Amino acid sequence: MPMNEGPPPLLPVAEALARILQGLAPSQAESCALQDVVGRVLATDIAARLSLPPAAVSAMDGYAVRAADCTATAALLTRVGESAAGKPWDGIVTAGEAVRIFTGAVVPDGADTILLQEDVSATAETDGATITVNEVPREGQFIRPAGLDVTAGDAILAAGTMMSARLIALAISAGHTEVSVWRRPHVGILSTGDELVAPGGTPGPGQIISSNATYLLSFAAACGAVPVDLGIARDRPGEMLACVRAATVPLDLVVTSGGASVGTHDHIVDDLSASGTELGFWKIAMRPGKPLIHGRIDDIPLLGLPGNPVSSAVCANVFLRPAVARLSGGNHAPQMVSAKLSLDLKANDRRQDYLRATLAYDEEGLPVVTPARKQDSSMISVYAGANALLVRPPYDAPRQAGDMVMAMPLDPLL
Ligand code: AMP
Ligand code: MG
Repeated sequence: MPMNEGPPPLLPVAEALARILQGLAPSQAESCALQDVVGRVLATDIAARLSLPPAAVSAMDGYAVRAADCTATAALLTRVGESAAGKPWDGIVTAGEAVRIFTGAVVPDGADTILLQEDVSATAETDGATITVNEVPREGQFIRPAGLDVTAGDAILAAGTMMSARLIALAISAGHTEVSVWRRPHVGILSTGDELVAPGGTPGPGQIISSNATYLLSFAAACGAVPVDLGIARDRPGEMLACVRAATVPLDLVVTSGGASVGTHDHIVDDLSASGTELGFWKIAMRPGKPLIHGRIDDIPLLGLPGNPVSSAVCANVFLRPAVARLSGGNHAPQMVSAKLSLDLKANDRRQDYLRATLAYDEEGLPVVTPARKQDSSMISVYAGANALLVRPPYDAPRQAGDMVMAMPLDPLL
């Protein structure tokens, strides 16, 4: 290559993510009891089966009356019945009558207003009592009309919505017990490397505990996937393919860590070619995170993450989380926070930088971000101590303490 051509172009992060997501879709919907769907994504729109409230109800304890009978203080009414929550009064309120009523009870026919119990005097707490109006009411006061909250037939939730406890409360209230949600995707996690010892083992000379798989299995589970441990592939041709093919459940995504370069001991690229399927191998404009593989293995989408634990973890946040969301029928876009930088930073190079950082709040409640002093991509302790990634775009100018920068908070579970 001529000297003046410079290094080959790197793929921007957003483009890499778009390409990864393009090939992913949820596979199957299933019916699930509402109490089991926190974090699951609706496969269909949901309409209300019931109106809320189903009938006009009182918002207060008091008396259901006709406003026309209460236009002056000292007006007198006769108590003719009682409507309590779950025990409606089935008569009709006529001129000069009042029905004792409690919060949530159905407003009887004929009544159009609730007198607060504090605003009347009653001769007794029984039918036949005389009620004196001490405060003239506003017509219609303290009545929640039928359908105030939700009307039967209304669209209440759209397909693609991720269910939270509060949305479950809405669907339950509107008469549903089960909803159709997308199946949780099966995500296979495979480590690669001759130096790796399975967790629980004792590392011999030159060996380390394989931490990436447990991280990625936990990560995938926290994102709503069913994690599938595919074990450790040793650095030999065909090992990685064999591990994927030994999976006992159908996989929606295979995630590997390590072995993604084209070094003598890196075999993922060759194994993908051997599986006879498509391979996209990229150098991505991000740090940490190079190299990253995207392809298909036996027609299963594959994401090949770097081996260094922090590179692997940062790529999981940037690529795996949105990928699992897409396979689950939803979407994930990180919520970025604009924060004040607490120290100076040199100009950035051509790679988007994800600095391990701490996001805190100053006395005024404004976010302040402090990058960790050590940014080595092998240092899991630094990543474990971070609660955010300070994201610097390619060629970001030098920054000074006090400048505003963008931070991506790390999910507390990830
Ligand atoms: P590689 O991409 O295979 O060259 O790996 C890069 C670095 O990440 C090496 O120092 C590996 O030892 C380390 N590494 C690879 N896989 C794992 C793993 N599963 N757990 C911890 N470290 C790993
Ligand atoms: Mg390796």
